[in-house]
Amino acid sequence: MKMQNVLYLSNLSKDHLHTLPLIVLYLTDGCNSRCAMCDIWRVPRQNMDMELVHHIVKSARRLRTQMVLLSGGEATQHPHWPSIAAQFRAHNIKVWLLTNGLLLKKQAEAIIEHVDRITVSLDAATPELYQRIRGVDALDLVLEGMRVISNAGVHVTTRTTVMRANFRQMPFIIDVALANGAQSVSFLAVDSDNPYAFGPRFEEQSTLPIASENDFGPLKEAELAEFQALLERLFISHAEHFANGQIEESPTKLRRLYDYFASLYGKASFTPPRCNAPHISVVIGVDGTLQPCYFLPPISESKNLDDLNQPEMIALRSAYRRKQRPECSRCVCPLYRGPRTLLQGF
Ligand code: SF4
Ligand code: SF4
Repeated sequence: MKMQNVLYLSNLSKDHLHTLPLIVLYLTDGCNSRCAMCDIWRVPRQNMDMELVHHIVKSARRLRTQMVLLSGGEATQHPHWPSIAAQFRAHNIKVWLLTNGLLLKKQAEAIIEHVDRITVSLDAATPELYQRIRGVDALDLVLEGMRVISNAGVHVTTRTTVMRANFRQMPFIIDVALANGAQSVSFLAVDSDNPYAFGPRFEEQSTLPIASENDFGPLKEAELAEFQALLERLFISHAEHFANGQIEESPTKLRRLYDYFASLYGKASFTPPRCNAPHISVVIGVDGTLQPCYFLPPISESKNLDDLNQPEMIALRSAYRRKQRPECSRCVCPLYRGPRTLLQGF
């Protein structure tokens, strides 16, 4: 077996990483969306420094990174994101853009030139609901941008955060996404428990409403039966899309969304998901801080990827692997890649 493959596989059995197949890069804390369940846009913007980017690119090459996921905030708000993407691609590292989609049309040329695939956050199928959740009236703009990018041959997927406000629109979101250039759609449950990912990131300044008291949080107990029935109807009405992979989750996986919400009321048990995110990836904050995944805390002294195997980072990897981290028991966004995927590349 080639040395490179041995190094990729050694990640799966050891807490000291020799390779880093996936890097999630928060390029900026700026965002042009105004989402009701996020406070990132309420604080002054900070962009990732270009010197730090150069350092990360160099380290990524050494660590045989296969894919970089550009995120934020909104990655396309970083003034130099195309040049950042180009630097990774110059080393054969694929670029995946996670975006709210507002600038897809305006920045189409740069996206088509520098990006291998995009995932668009799509939380609604109607302009009214989109505006209520996202705070801007932009559904048509996002869909138009998806069509432009997709027609140019870039792989487009959508991701929907399922919450009380939009669970009834799930079937329509699938139809709208696929009709507007998405190759596939996926869903995850809203999570407002954890401060490190989709909940408030700026605790001391947060003016976010309490999720359990509005439409942007988990389903209420009284809505569970309706959600369950909706899912079962979806498995029949969209059977073809499940079969051909256009809906990325299987029916079994989507039933876990119901279990997740129902477990809040003791109506179902939620089994912790399979995940090896901290052994195959890292999340790098806008100032260079490292997190083993979206939800585990950043390590205290990290400045850049040189700290990938700092004792604190290794301890976090070891703890989640031994099922000692409480964040994992109700994680809404696990990531698992087995040996075959690691060898074939992201
Ligand atoms: S959830 Fe995402 S798109 Fe919405 S304001 Fe926050 S960072 Fe921007
Ligand atoms: S299950 Fe979730 S919290 Fe736990 S390591 Fe995986 S991504 Fe992180």
